[in-house]
Amino acid sequence: MKTYQNFINGDFARSEGDGGLEVTNPSTGEIVSRVPESTEEDLARALEAAETAQVEWAKRPPIERANALREVSKLLRENVDHLARVIVEEQGKVLGLAEVEVTFTADYIDYMAEWARRIEGEIIPSDRQGESIFLFRQPIGVVGGILPWNFPFFLVARKMAPALVCGNAIVLKPSEETPNNAFEFCKLIQEAGLPAGLVNVLSGSGAGVGKALAESDRIGMISFTGSVETGSKIMASAAKNITKVNLELGGKAPAIVLHDADIDLAVTAIKSSRIINSGQVCNCVERIYVHEKVADEFTEKLSKAMAEARCGDPLKDTTVDYGPMINRQGFEKVDAMVKTALSEGAQACTGGSRENVEGDGYFFQPTVLSQCKHEMEIIRKEIFGPVAPVVTVADLDEAIACANDSDYGLTSSIYTRDLRTAMRACHEIRFGETYINRENFEAIQGYHAGCRKSGIGGADGKHGLYENLQTHIVYLQN
Ligand code: NAD
Repeated sequence: MKTYQNFINGDFARSEGDGGLEVTNPSTGEIVSRVPESTEEDLARALEAAETAQVEWAKRPPIERANALREVSKLLRENVDHLARVIVEEQGKVLGLAEVEVTFTADYIDYMAEWARRIEGEIIPSDRQGESIFLFRQPIGVVGGILPWNFPFFLVARKMAPALVCGNAIVLKPSEETPNNAFEFCKLIQEAGLPAGLVNVLSGSGAGVGKALAESDRIGMISFTGSVETGSKIMASAAKNITKVNLELGGKAPAIVLHDADIDLAVTAIKSSRIINSGQVCNCVERIYVHEKVADEFTEKLSKAMAEARCGDPLKDTTVDYGPMINRQGFEKVDAMVKTALSEGAQACTGGSRENVEGDGYFFQPTVLSQCKHEMEIIRKEIFGPVAPVVTVADLDEAIACANDSDYGLTSSIYTRDLRTAMRACHEIRFGETYINRENFEAIQGYHAGCRKSGIGGADGKHGLYENLQTHIVYLQN
């Protein structure tokens, strides 16, 4: 069995908590590694190292910071196979998707590195004679990052790359479920020669080291990706020191399929949205509002397509379409939600229960539920599984009213051939992102951000980068 140690001040460091957490392969139930349950002392050392490293790092010309990051992305590209297998073993996504996760991560780092020369301040005209007003954009200092398990490798870079380009250092806590790939990432950070202390990774529980990191008065921002429930706790922790929060939380993405939609396109995109990563993706379709004129055709075609999806252990069978749920808790949550929906009158057009796959993994059948009503739990709560609940609506107005009536506001999608309808819907739907006639997946240069309980602030592109900076205004009187 593998063991990993925390990455602090450029090295793998001993901790009293070494071996305190077990990491399990969700396809087999086997324990694959032991990692530290980090202590407060580990966190103090990591923060100290980050503070020291940041001072020198911020003085370096931005292009040097960018070039140092490009050394990391180069090494990621040289190690795709190995990294992808580590991700699959602890997280359960299919190998092809894990490979894409690694190469996308390298692209993401390169994209953020491109920004180094473009972080600009402003010169503002003064009302006073002889005065100049300068607005500088400065680093925040040390950023704290807390990660979920669903795209664990990419999320290391989504926090780290913009933070470092802007002249910050970072202390990261990966999910208890998926720390191994983060430590493999650290090996390459070390090999690439990034200054010691700039990136520190500590494994451990949310209630332990995660909470301590969010409560620390030594960080300038806590950047969190995960559930709404934890996001709320992190805000409370950050409130102690009025620490800036950046929260990327859960979603309940509606897909609206109108009577003039390309039904085959909608079926393909929505199926892939429910199957990718076993339906465990924050931005993917979680509820479908279909126009009554095409409801039967759409539901029949979606059910047929979903029924063809095969799941299994992605390391044993590289041809499966999707793997297991992350853990027993995730599996039981999906199972209970489907059972409740069926008891409330939904109909399983395909699937609806545990998949009959050999081994101890947490596999759920690809499932389509018709006859759902907007008030049902399955339409209101995040499922995070390969389940597509369908609600029939009379028109676009009803679809938009239902879509907006949600605690969540991350992503949404619309299928129609009429551009005017699409634009009207975009103006009326209140979500951070809307995809028109395409699958839900954000671009590096976009801005991934939700409204309502889906978060505060965002990631990616120029606006995501700028979250890692603070303004400093200077008045110079001549
Ligand atoms: P989670 O909230 O259970 O855990 C996320 C992280 O928070 C883990 O590292 C955990 O240890 C830590 N944590 C738990 N309690 C804590 C506390 N009190 N203080 C500090 N840290 C604490 O989420 P998860 O199950 O790992 O991930 C799934 C969720 O993440 C889903 O809701 C999904 O929608 C969301 N997500 C959102 C995005 C986005 O960009 N909006 C992306 C990926 C996942």
